[in-house]
Amino acid sequence: MPRPLIATIHLDAMQHNLARARAGARGAKVWAVVKANAYGHGLERAMRGFADADGLALVEVDYAVRLRELGWTKPILLLEGFFDASDLPAMAQHKLNGSVHCEEQIDMLAAACLPHAIDVHLKMNTGMNRLGFTPGAVAGAYARLRAMQHVGTITLMTHFANADEAAPTRLPLAQQMLRFEAGAASIGAALPRSLCNSAGVLLHHLDSDWVRPGIMLYGGTPSGAPGGMSAQAFGLLPTMTLRSKIIGIQDIAAGEVVGYGSRYEAAGNIKVGVVACGYADGYPRHAPEGTPVLVDGVRTGLIGRVSMDMLMVDLTQVPEVKVGSAVTLWGQGMPIDEVALAAGTIGYELMCALAPRVPVIEA
Ligand code: PLP
Repeated sequence: MPRPLIATIHLDAMQHNLARARAGARGAKVWAVVKANAYGHGLERAMRGFADADGLALVEVDYAVRLRELGWTKPILLLEGFFDASDLPAMAQHKLNGSVHCEEQIDMLAAACLPHAIDVHLKMNTGMNRLGFTPGAVAGAYARLRAMQHVGTITLMTHFANADEAAPTRLPLAQQMLRFEAGAASIGAALPRSLCNSAGVLLHHLDSDWVRPGIMLYGGTPSGAPGGMSAQAFGLLPTMTLRSKIIGIQDIAAGEVVGYGSRYEAAGNIKVGVVACGYADGYPRHAPEGTPVLVDGVRTGLIGRVSMDMLMVDLTQVPEVKVGSAVTLWGQGMPIDEVALAAGTIGYELMCALAPRVPVIEA
């Protein structure tokens, strides 16, 4: 028998969340973001779950080519563009849109001899200071690109740093939009726009030609901040449920300790459940005492340090629990954002970290 740990991917929830994104997109076309193996869900699976998207966006050139091999015929966007001139022929051959964010990429494009034109997303840095041309430099970048025969449609793009926060103290979305509008006006041509990530789609109502939601399509909230709206409140459904079973039970007395480092000491007599799931499966090792876990439908909490293959939970309040009882680490019945918040991370990281050794099934 294999270990009882299984991740279930809910394709109908992916479809539902995509429809939710479309409803919030104010008529914009939707790039479903499928980078990082579709946030841990599997590329081919995401292609089916997001079959209704207008395009798929990711960062890995080889995965983009794989999407074409798998039969995806609609647009594909490389969010970080290309990393080397040697990527360009494949981009032209497979009709991959590329983000262009620096002069070096424009130099590579200028030197390339390509059989077909490439559509590009010209990326503007409006304050996040990650990738992109400043508003003052974007017109020059546009002029160079527009002069190239093998550059097709140019879409203007930016990325928001704080779209998930109601009142950010730094770089509010409105400030980024002011910079964006200034850069756009300097170009002297009305270009299609690609603006919102999930937070933008859910919380802001901007007009654009394309949106780029990721986490909301996987049933997670953008920030997972305490007090923020839950995925459920946004009408999103979980797309990944990580389930396991109780594989051992210990009845321990007050003063006994649990797990490596004996981090947890029982204050009273308690029942300890051992769950087949550890950090080698992608469960965060740094999860603290009390991180929520569902056992036989009852919400309880982690105790002791997470081991490589196992973690321990408090079963004292779980009636009739036994070896073989069902455990949900996250997903249906146990919001991934709550687990992430308790563990000091975000749902994105938990999904992406799902280890290759965990069997995945579809429902
Ligand atoms: N657009 C860009 C450029 C991104 O880098 C990302 C993800 O980091 C997204 C869109 C999707 O963001 P989210 O998953 O928060 O919706």
